[in-house]
Amino acid sequence: MIDLKDFEYHELEEFIVGLGEKKFRAGQIYKWLNQGVTSYDEMTDISNKLKDKLNEISYVSTLEIENKLVSKLDGTVKYLFRLPDGNCIESVVMRYHHGLTICISSQVGCRMGCRFCASTIGGLYRSLTAGEILNQVIFAQKDLGERISNIVLMGIGEPLDNYDNVIKFIRNINNEKGVNIGLRHITLSTCGVVPGIYKLAEENMPITLTISLHAPNDEIRSSIMPINNRYKMDELLLACKHYKDVTNRRLSFEYSLISGVNDSKQNAAELASKIKPLAAHVNLIPVNKVDERNYKKGSKNEINAFLKHLTDCGVNATIRRELGSDISASCGQLRKKTLNISERKECTD
Ligand code: SAH
Repeated sequence: MIDLKDFEYHELEEFIVGLGEKKFRAGQIYKWLNQGVTSYDEMTDISNKLKDKLNEISYVSTLEIENKLVSKLDGTVKYLFRLPDGNCIESVVMRYHHGLTICISSQVGCRMGCRFCASTIGGLYRSLTAGEILNQVIFAQKDLGERISNIVLMGIGEPLDNYDNVIKFIRNINNEKGVNIGLRHITLSTCGVVPGIYKLAEENMPITLTISLHAPNDEIRSSIMPINNRYKMDELLLACKHYKDVTNRRLSFEYSLISGVNDSKQNAAELASKIKPLAAHVNLIPVNKVDERNYKKGSKNEINAFLKHLTDCGVNATIRRELGSDISASCGQLRKKTLNISERKECTD
């Protein structure tokens, strides 16, 4: 059975024409799907004959809200969505003065193995389809009754490890007949899958790229991020420069501060010397505690000192404001708690 949300708009047009229907029907169906209908019956301007045809070969995919937590501190909403096959993913909606931002997942689990990250515990179950990625935005928007204006691909999974479906999703979410979110309002975060960065630079898609760097040199980075054994920092920073040159978009780096691992004054100076030529912004994130891991965040003073060292060296940096701290809003934590995922590869469902 086909999920029509796995089609890009022009593919849906071809599909509908292939059923012997007029091209404009694709526009009607696309609009309904992006509004979060749960069956073809809800499409009031589509004939019963076409609905029957669609029901025979396709289905309207949905996401069930398995759990929903709302932060009393800042209104952050965390969804645990259940997929049709029983797997769960997380999406988080954050309230900023410029509107609602949703942080969405691109995979069920993750195979990147970053030592400090809850999403990778248990490994990768599977990648999400383009429709499943899109459904997170559609069904969060429907549930909230509010428009979401920004997207960050920073939930569970590595987006560049699910490249084709992520690109398809971005083209659909950007389509003016659908949810219609501007490419400049979309941020993709990667742990540093270098070939994916080069490929993305060729898509003519001015989204914002952010790199999870988390270290000033190969020795530290390899000790906390296995991807660094595959693509060294020099190679990664070269890919970043290429992306910036080709797209003319500003880059940013994520840097999770882990006490005693990557947060010394020397670490700040070395980081600055490496990334200064890229004129990128650095988001400092005091590392979130993950039960299975031993990493700790430093004190407020230590975190502020790192920020000061970095800015004194001429790097533009800020400390990421913590949202939803009362609902374990950081990625992978709710899914892990709910499904009781531990350090093994097979599905616990
Ligand atoms: N795979 C992508 C996107 C998902 S993770 C990537 O690696 O960028 C989103 C961000 O949260 C990444 O920067 C990741 O390194 C960071 N992160 C994961 N676990 C964290 C933790 N316990 N504390 C702080 N940041 C964490």
